[in-house]
Amino acid sequence: MQTERQVKQWIVRICRMLHQKDLIAATDGNVSVKVGNKLLTTPSGVNKGFLEEKQIITVDLEGRLLEGTGQPTSELEMHLLVYRLRPEVGAVVHAHPPLITGFSIAGVSLEEFILPEVVMTMGVIPTAAYATPATGEVAEVIRELIKGYDALILERHGAVTVGLDLMEAYNKMEKLEHTALVILTALQLGRVRLLPPREVEKLIQFRVVKGLKPP
Ligand SMILES: [Zn+2]
Repeated sequence: MQTERQVKQWIVRICRMLHQKDLIAATDGNVSVKVGNKLLTTPSGVNKGFLEEKQIITVDLEGRLLEGTGQPTSELEMHLLVYRLRPEVGAVVHAHPPLITGFSIAGVSLEEFILPEVVMTMGVIPTAAYATPATGEVAEVIRELIKGYDALILERHGAVTVGLDLMEAYNKMEKLEHTALVILTALQLGRVRLLPPREVEKLIQFRVVKGLKPP
């Protein structure tokens, strides 16, 4: 297991990547990592591209402040709910990727079988209903979906991804936005052809072999 110091270094690194890859802007987004019975989380109101280790906040699994001078992320309730519902999850990433968010504003669903590696890793990507950001509403709209999916789009409000560790959760966020770029390209070229059902079946079998839930 990584030490708290190492986890803080990873959070800073991943936040910089989220910012560099335009998955967040200004003070958007939040990241948390579970270390034993503690949660290390990004602070509220800070540009994550410039985050420093000393700004990371430590809370317990009920959200009570243990260490840090700022305020924990305003989406803490949503993070806490994910860890409560999915004990195997080690990290949660919330970002505002522009293409994914644009898809949700346009009402274009990603609940289709289009890209094989997405079917293999994330199944399909459902969209949670609109909720007012930074309120308990976000936790409520993801409550049912997060039990079955590792990547969710939040209507008009980016996405949430989870993983066994921070790298895995980050990878899913990066892949989500890349998927949106690929599908946007296909839409601009005129059409999106879905994967044939026979091929989808093979990919679902791959998930079963890997011990993943069928989408
Ligand atoms: Zn947000």
